[in-house]
Amino acid sequence: MERCSQGRPGTTEAGKSPTNRRTDTQQPDVSPRTVDPDTADAFAIGVPTLWGAAAERIISTLSEVGRQHFGTYPWHTDTDPFRKLVAEVLLARTTRQVVARLYWTLAAAYPDAEALSHADEADLLALLAPTGLTSRALRLRALAASIARIGGVPDTRDKLLALPLVGQYTADAVLLYVHRECALPLDSSAQRLLHRLVGGSDPVRVPPYRDDFLLRLRQCLQRRLTPEGLVWFHQGVLAVAWTHCRARPKCGGCPLSASCRYAARAGPNRAPC
Ligand code: SF4
Repeated sequence: MERCSQGRPGTTEAGKSPTNRRTDTQQPDVSPRTVDPDTADAFAIGVPTLWGAAAERIISTLSEVGRQHFGTYPWHTDTDPFRKLVAEVLLARTTRQVVARLYWTLAAAYPDAEALSHADEADLLALLAPTGLTSRALRLRALAASIARIGGVPDTRDKLLALPLVGQYTADAVLLYVHRECALPLDSSAQRLLHRLVGGSDPVRVPPYRDDFLLRLRQCLQRRLTPEGLVWFHQGVLAVAWTHCRARPKCGGCPLSASCRYAARAGPNRAPC
């Protein structure tokens, strides 16, 4: 199994062309990698806690939660790269529940990039009305036109970021979930959970992709896990962030409470929930 460190996000691999390859149906290997040479790196970059005694338990717990969570939404199991890209673009600005409700309707109306690129403006706006998006909805046509022109969803960060509506999170989500590249997507939910879990406190107010602690932690995780392992880990992060690690955390019942520095600091009589 390829390790993440052998396929770093952000590296443009010469000769790669847009591809629709997809391995959703494969059974991922979530086994954490042996720590050794990365341990020194982890300490050197300042996030040793995850590699401490709790590391195995944290990764195992989040991966198991991720396994259970995976399949909740249609883009989890759909194998079409373009539809998954569109879902990620919509998810950047609207809720997963709304996107889930219209996912297959949108797919039926515009089954591929070519079809969406020629969508009637009024029809598209009407279909996407539940999202509350207007300009973004219309810019989907430009995104679709770009994909149709390229011939598929790009598999490098640089090419993804050059597309309309694609930012850092969406690029990472596509790299991980479509192309099984090593890229852990970072949003504010993951940022909050990982800061509390590993660092013991709420994050400072910086965007996730400018959060030095978070970026270094991501680097450790990407070195430690396979891309398939990162899928389950990320799904677990999202599931716990949505159900327990909210702005007001519900540490009681959280599957990570035994390993969480934030919960430990809060103490049994001063639970922050
Ligand atoms: S124990 Fe509390 S602070 Fe820690 S991850 Fe769970 S909900 Fe968040």
